[in-house]
Amino acid sequence: MARVTSKYGPRTDPVTGEPAFHHGIDYATPVGTPIYANQPMTVTKVGYEPGYGKYVYAKDANGNEHRYGHLDSQNVKPGDTINPGDKIANTGNTGKSTGPHLHYEVRKPDGNSVDPQSVDPATGKPYTDSGGFEKGKTMDGSNANKEPDYKPNQPQPNPGGNPPGVPPPPVPNNPGGRPPDPIGRTTPDINKFFRDFGNVFNPRLGASDLRDTRVPR
Ligand SMILES: [Zn+2]
Repeated sequence: MARVTSKYGPRTDPVTGEPAFHHGIDYATPVGTPIYANQPMTVTKVGYEPGYGKYVYAKDANGNEHRYGHLDSQNVKPGDTINPGDKIANTGNTGKSTGPHLHYEVRKPDGNSVDPQSVDPATGKPYTDSGGFEKGKTMDGSNANKEPDYKPNQPQPNPGGNPPGVPPPPVPNNPGGRPPDPIGRTTPDINKFFRDFGNVFNPRLGASDLRDTRVPR
């Protein structure tokens, strides 16, 4: 989870040095960090403005507007319906910003900002829990689009198996497992051979066991 570098509330403006009110939360992030929706929302505004820089605004089901500022890229457009886990944007350093970070802000239906970490009376949950950095995280903490346990194109667990990336050896066309006779004879079934001719390979067996020592051709 991204580090919170500035909380909601009164602060000294980091650019002007003047007392100011911070209407959102700042999360320090490398430029290009993906931001995901944590609840169903409708995108209301996408654009650029000198303060917020590149921004995305989106409204949730209770009419709260979630504002993401200082973005590097925007992945949605006005009117888009976004669901938990959908990518909204990448973080950046645009607009009035002293370093790469996400400014995340919530405006209530009356237009007033609210601490995004406070509880929304409409849902009984905080407006945000992670700023949107956890893919698939929803308001109730469940995982909306859990990654499959075995991802395609990823090495998969194979305890005791072949090393990852090494295809299994081809299955020979003789389930008995013996290699074909190098000089082209048909190799007999070894058990049938012992039944028919006795065990010619075990010197501990007595003469009476060696009923026949002929090797079939
Ligand atoms: Zn901010």
